[in-house]
Amino acid sequence: MTDPASFASQRTALRQQYVEDLNNTLDALLCRVSGRGVDMPTAILAELHACLHKLAGSGGAFGFPELSDQAKSLEIVVKAWLEQSVVPELAQWETWKTDLSALRQTLGDFSASADRTAKETLGQAFKSQSRVRVVLVDDDEALLAELTKGLSQFGYEIKSYTHFAEAEVDILDDPPDMLVIDIMLFGQTPDDGTDAAIMLFARLGYSLPTIFITSKADFSARLAAAKAGGSAFLIKPVDVSTLAGRIEMLHREREFEPYRVLIVDDDEVLAEHYRLTLMAAGMLAEKVCRPNEVLAVMLDLHPDVLLIDLCMPGCTGAQLARAIRYEEAWLSIPIVYLSAADELDEQIKALDSGGDDFLTKPISARKLETVVRIRAARARKIDELMSKDSLTGLLKHSSIKERIEQEVERARRHGKTMAMAMMDLDHFKRVNDTWGHPMGDQVIKTLAHLLRQRLRRQDSIGRYGGEEFAVVLPDCDASDALRLLEDVRLRFGEIVFVHEGQSFTVTLSAGVADSGQCLDAKGLLAAADAALYAAKNGGRNQVRQFTEEIV
Ligand code: GH3
Ligand code: MG
Ligand code: MG
Repeated sequence: MTDPASFASQRTALRQQYVEDLNNTLDALLCRVSGRGVDMPTAILAELHACLHKLAGSGGAFGFPELSDQAKSLEIVVKAWLEQSVVPELAQWETWKTDLSALRQTLGDFSASADRTAKETLGQAFKSQSRVRVVLVDDDEALLAELTKGLSQFGYEIKSYTHFAEAEVDILDDPPDMLVIDIMLFGQTPDDGTDAAIMLFARLGYSLPTIFITSKADFSARLAAAKAGGSAFLIKPVDVSTLAGRIEMLHREREFEPYRVLIVDDDEVLAEHYRLTLMAAGMLAEKVCRPNEVLAVMLDLHPDVLLIDLCMPGCTGAQLARAIRYEEAWLSIPIVYLSAADELDEQIKALDSGGDDFLTKPISARKLETVVRIRAARARKIDELMSKDSLTGLLKHSSIKERIEQEVERARRHGKTMAMAMMDLDHFKRVNDTWGHPMGDQVIKTLAHLLRQRLRRQDSIGRYGGEEFAVVLPDCDASDALRLLEDVRLRFGEIVFVHEGQSFTVTLSAGVADSGQCLDAKGLLAAADAALYAAKNGGRNQVRQFTEEIV
């Protein structure tokens, strides 16, 4: 992934280009008005007005607020001349021209100064997706071996140590994503895992997300874990799937998917500036300069927030918002309008037609970033409550079905292939009957954790029914999907569940199909389902790929 520094340098280049464009525009304007008297044709006045309006709106965004203010006062004067169709008085006209030259001078000074905005945005790190690295410390060798094996099945990269001192050397050298540590470390210094963690974090300079495991279930141990900043406290015997669930949860809190933002503005340079500003803040932003392209880009990007310029040629931002909201999928997307301060009437109309907020140009990087972040966070939260299953945190039935439709459609548009899989736990009724319903729930959650660990970020996972799951795999064909699901099946089958000292395993069956084999989403679902059915009939604990013979 491109790092923020490179966005910042793109932004510097963009700013330079912007300054250059403005210099040229202003020079041309000065050329046209210099030596001219007050008999200025209206067309030239209108052109002057348009240029100053743009300057007033975008100057601040590029880190030139003074320029914005200067342009604004010049604009107001021209606007009055235009609206009242009056010929300015000579003195007024000369003052105005002097001010315009001063504006040109201001701009010249700015272009010579160092870039201010680029530096603000450095230092924000993007997270790359890789395996979660966990360090395990426990003096109980047998337990350590069991947990290491069990957690590896979930796809975590595990390093395990019976001695804290050895773990510490490695952690300081190459810190992992997470620490799982026993509280009682017999015969070691310190012999308490919570003290060990506190010392380690002091040396490291920051705390790692930590899970304490212990056979000492008293309150003082609990409190010690809390004082050491532990994120979780698990009492032995520790069940691997519970531990994996905690690791997964902790990791998910940190592994945050960047907010997606779509910017719609006819001013291409300004739109690009906003885009780079948001990218540098760690968001995923795209721009569209022609309103008629918005819906297609939205389908691809799935933005959390839309930024729409209020005044565009061809349509207003409010009209565009209304047109977008005709789509049910976009009924609740937050829309923030970008507008000039004097567009009050348009602002009110825009609020009426379903916009959520305004940002008045000029917009500073910080303001843009903050407003977008707040809107996106709220939208995500609401979306999560509405679309996620509470037991597993996976997409609910209706949401995963929607996702299948979107991805089939996207693959078709881009001439690509996507695959999907349907999975079902084998003889799950027996699991419930033998080990109890709560244990059954634990098994379902475990498969959810495993799927999240194994699948790519762009994949979608849903709980299709009680013990039935669906996954959507973009840019993937049925044979890749078969390989992936085969790996999931094997790993899942090896996970040992423990109930009151007795252990058991559970298997799953799956069917895969790809978009090349089907006409539409409905067909794809039916094909994956038919393949699953074939896997069940073939004896369960297997993955089948859809073929014509299956039907
Ligand atoms: P097959 O291999 O053919 O899929 O057999 P099965 O027993 O898994 O299939 P069946 O559809 O007969 O039973 C599914 C069971 O899953 C019945 C239901 O009680 C159980 N189940 C569904 N949702 C949940 C849940 O959320 N928690 C638990 N514990 N059990 C669930
Ligand atoms: Mg089943
Ligand atoms: Mg079933």
